[in-house]
Amino acid sequence: MAEILIKGVAKSFGSFTALHSIDLTIADQEFMVLLGASGCGKTTLLRIIAGLESPTQGEVWIGGKRVDQLPPRERGIAMVFQNYAVFPHLTVYENIAFGLRMKKLPQAEVDTRVKRTAELMHIEQLLKRYSGQLSGGQRQRVAVARALAMEPDVILMDEPLSNLDALLRLEMRAELKGVLANSKTTTIYVTHDQVEAMSLADRISVMNGGHIVQAASPVEVYRNPAARFVGSFIGNPPMNFLPATRNGDGRYHVAGIALDGPSQGGAKLEFAIRPEDLTIAAGGLKATARVIEPLGAHTLVTSEVDGKLFRAVLDSDLKVAPGDELSLVPKPDRVRWFDLETSKAVN
Ligand code: ATP
Repeated sequence: MAEILIKGVAKSFGSFTALHSIDLTIADQEFMVLLGASGCGKTTLLRIIAGLESPTQGEVWIGGKRVDQLPPRERGIAMVFQNYAVFPHLTVYENIAFGLRMKKLPQAEVDTRVKRTAELMHIEQLLKRYSGQLSGGQRQRVAVARALAMEPDVILMDEPLSNLDALLRLEMRAELKGVLANSKTTTIYVTHDQVEAMSLADRISVMNGGHIVQAASPVEVYRNPAARFVGSFIGNPPMNFLPATRNGDGRYHVAGIALDGPSQGGAKLEFAIRPEDLTIAAGGLKATARVIEPLGAHTLVTSEVDGKLFRAVLDSDLKVAPGDELSLVPKPDRVRWFDLETSKAVN
């Protein structure tokens, strides 16, 4: 069992607070992704769990044991970091075998594990090469293979696919997902790539400014963002936002149309809808089309609603030209509302 508990973990560098009291539980065998823009604190949190950085405050527990005072090697974890420390003077085989030899495993076991993980990572043909002679992407795969070969309880990865070209990245993402789903490993994976996060995670922790804004399944963070930041950060093209005002009839008026709003909402809220949750029908938001982008499966229409940029993903058969007036009806069950002051979702 390798549940990971993060209790009130904070980190300051001088007067700068990189992490504000983080509380997070990662279940045994869960695949947790830390997602956020550059500088939000994801690497710092991962390094604290790994033991490469000590928290200013708080505790880290792995598998029922408090580990924040222990050195990295006593935490039962394997790591794959951006700067994948692969030893250039060792062959790929010896790089993957490195940790296994430290553990003094018998040669037959070392051999089996090296070959198995090399195959998983598609580098079995490179085993005799010196790592100094590899491309960045190949070295990255060696680093992942070396971590997997340890069969650790916990694996921590920081952008392990960042040096791969787009196609290989896609392929490796699927491989990694398959490999880790079949292992008993608890995984924490740092990325700023939301598609990668959505595709890999059991749960995503969305981070902003040293806080975890929401920790939930990919579908949940996409459909029910807990805060405006999550709605705007996740999704491409991004979510649309418009100001909303409650009128005497209790309904919210958004750019000239009336919508049923949340029962708990104040007089002013922010209305939000994803671009794919709009249809063309009478009585909708009045939009003036500005840019039309046919994307094959759909057409992305960037328009203006009440002077604000507004995007809709529409049927590719739609005939629309810049300057056309459209009436965009939001799907009622997909509309979300945010408090103007706190930016939190209102239900
Ligand atoms: P990236 O995706 O760019 O790696 P990140 O979300 O992983 O970003 P961190 O590396 O965790 O961000 O950094 C969080 C903040 O803490 C940043 O503003 C960074 O400049 C700061 N920081 C990190 N390490 C140090 C340090 N050793 N000294 C001072 N500030 C630091």
